[in-house]
Amino acid sequence: MDSVLTVIPPFRPGQEPDVDPSRLVRWSPSVTLVPSRSCFNACEYCGFRRDPGSTTDLTLAGARRSLRRRPDSTEVLLLSGEVAPASPQRVGWFSRLLAFSRLALSLGRLPHTNAGPLSRREMAALARLNPSLGLMLEGLGPAYERLHKAAPSKRLALRLGQLEQAGRLGIPFTSGLLLGVGESRSDRLRALELLAALQKQWGHLQEVILQPWRPDGAQAVPLGSAEQQDLLELIEAARRILPAEVTLQLPPNLWPLESLPQALEAGINDLGGLDSHDVINAAYPQPSPRELSGRLELAGWALRPRLCVHDRFIPWLPPDLRRRATSLHARLLASVLA
Ligand code: SF4
Repeated sequence: MDSVLTVIPPFRPGQEPDVDPSRLVRWSPSVTLVPSRSCFNACEYCGFRRDPGSTTDLTLAGARRSLRRRPDSTEVLLLSGEVAPASPQRVGWFSRLLAFSRLALSLGRLPHTNAGPLSRREMAALARLNPSLGLMLEGLGPAYERLHKAAPSKRLALRLGQLEQAGRLGIPFTSGLLLGVGESRSDRLRALELLAALQKQWGHLQEVILQPWRPDGAQAVPLGSAEQQDLLELIEAARRILPAEVTLQLPPNLWPLESLPQALEAGINDLGGLDSHDVINAAYPQPSPRELSGRLELAGWALRPRLCVHDRFIPWLPPDLRRRATSLHARLLASVLA
């Protein structure tokens, strides 16, 4: 129970006058830290992974330097390769996730970790330091089974179990689908229906990312018009299938800027965490929030910052995180109103 000295003022979302909530698009000022690219899975589409033992992991000092270079970021996205659950290295790997989360908090930021499936105890421990956590569902069906044959973490039942575990623990959660690796339309719709069912049961899904898969490096190429049309139909379907309170996120560097308003009209209302670059899709430059805001304003949309934990979940948080999120939320709102 909170003592008198630690009473937290109730969270009030706050609102800008004259902004139509149905024309708001959110983004999170974010910096991404990669504790390790080493991963025991080998998803066939992944350009992020390195073989265990072949890379130098990020140090806390390196992370501190990165965070100090980006003082305006409120979110620290911790994106890590995975260590097998039974590996002797698992404890050390998980302790580092906790240490990076503590570092983010000590520098006045909010960590959001996405590091694969977690035991119940691990997830609960991270949730004491992270106001929200994430795990992509990725997808299902024969294409994904083939691409994930050397990725034990990507079994559908395991992923769904993780989303349910987060629901039981009351953790605000982000999930999503990776699109365009050969999955069928019915596979996509089934995946969305599974997410919708989880949301109806637990109410903890804050956003669903609809992430187009793109080739990286020298093969990088923008989405063509047929691919955009295909994804626009999927966005509309996602908006129909998922409960209205779940936001739909699209990474703006993976979608042509000139047609971004079409994606918003179809149902996208969040552009996710924006860092200066994308560590997964490094060949696709991030547009700046200023550039995005200018373009979207011309199309009748207002771009506004948010925290990694969405406003409506702030009252769910344990006291220390609630206090931190309430204060950072007020700072973001003041920056918009200034
Ligand atoms: S689990 Fe993630 S990091 Fe590991 S291989 Fe798969 S996509 Fe890459």
